[in-house]
Amino acid sequence: MQITGKTKLLGVIGDPISHSLSPVMQNAAIAYLGVDYLYVPFLVRELEIAVRGLAALGIAGFNITIPHKQAILPLLMEVTPIAGLVGAVNTVWWNGYGWSGTNTDVEGFVAPLQTFNPCSEAVVLGCGGAARAVVVGCHQLNCQRIHVVGRRAEKLVEFQKSWQGTAIGDCLQTYLWSELPRLLPHADLIINTTPLGMGADADQSPLTAEDRLKQGAIAYDLIYTPHTTKFLQQARNQGVQIINGMEMLVQQGAASLSIWLGQPAPVEVMRQSITEVLYSPQN
Ligand code: NAP
Repeated sequence: MQITGKTKLLGVIGDPISHSLSPVMQNAAIAYLGVDYLYVPFLVRELEIAVRGLAALGIAGFNITIPHKQAILPLLMEVTPIAGLVGAVNTVWWNGYGWSGTNTDVEGFVAPLQTFNPCSEAVVLGCGGAARAVVVGCHQLNCQRIHVVGRRAEKLVEFQKSWQGTAIGDCLQTYLWSELPRLLPHADLIINTTPLGMGADADQSPLTAEDRLKQGAIAYDLIYTPHTTKFLQQARNQGVQIINGMEMLVQQGAASLSIWLGQPAPVEVMRQSITEVLYSPQN
């Protein structure tokens, strides 16, 4: 592709940013569609200055990753209801007067569950940023009860309170880890949103060897490296269907691109580019 004076710029801001897979998948999609865009990673420490700078440079839109997903909200002219509910924005576009923001993580999370049977009970492991998008996703899937498990009582109280006055507040309950064994046998969907199973914690799992899952349940890990975490291996050994975090990554990116371009994103091209980087033997 040739960069010209007319090429429009997209990007992702975060700190750190060098690990981001978004440039690979977004530029693969841009090349496939033949549109005159370029997607660039930006290491951003000074968020407010950067957001003003991106406007001054005429950037068409950008993704936001850790640690700016919440902090960006007051810097935007408007946010969609779903981003307001999650309390985090991962996709921003220029509306002609200022920045508009939304959250495509919910859409990404829900995408691989479209054929999922009705969910009565969901167990969400962890109560950080990603857990918020997962909770909204579980609610969209009509889960009747959403149990959120965390390790710090004060954080769980805060998490519970943050949903008060919303429809989610009526079906969400928080628990300490010690309660997990009694929740698991009733759960139709169990989602790991903790980093247990990746990086330095690769040999760890949020489940103990004794934990038993319900037959017919789905175990979903937001982690995508390694491909099959210890949590997913344990679930698979119990005959439970498993989903890793790659599809969520691809689908949230595809949803962002379709907002920026106003046309459907080539999901399969994006999926292939990520699969190559993450799982091909030479990488
Ligand atoms: P976060 O805001 O830091 O939340 C992490 C949560 O895990 C917190 O509740 C934290 O508890 C808990 N936790 C951390 N270490 C733990 C441990 N050793 N034992 C028990 N709980 C622990 O991070 P995040 O942004 O939500 O991201 C969470 C995970 O989701 C990461 O692995 C990230 O890569 C993944 N993710 C994937 C996608 C995707 O597209 N597939 C998208 C977003 C995130 P405390 O609050 O007590 O520290």
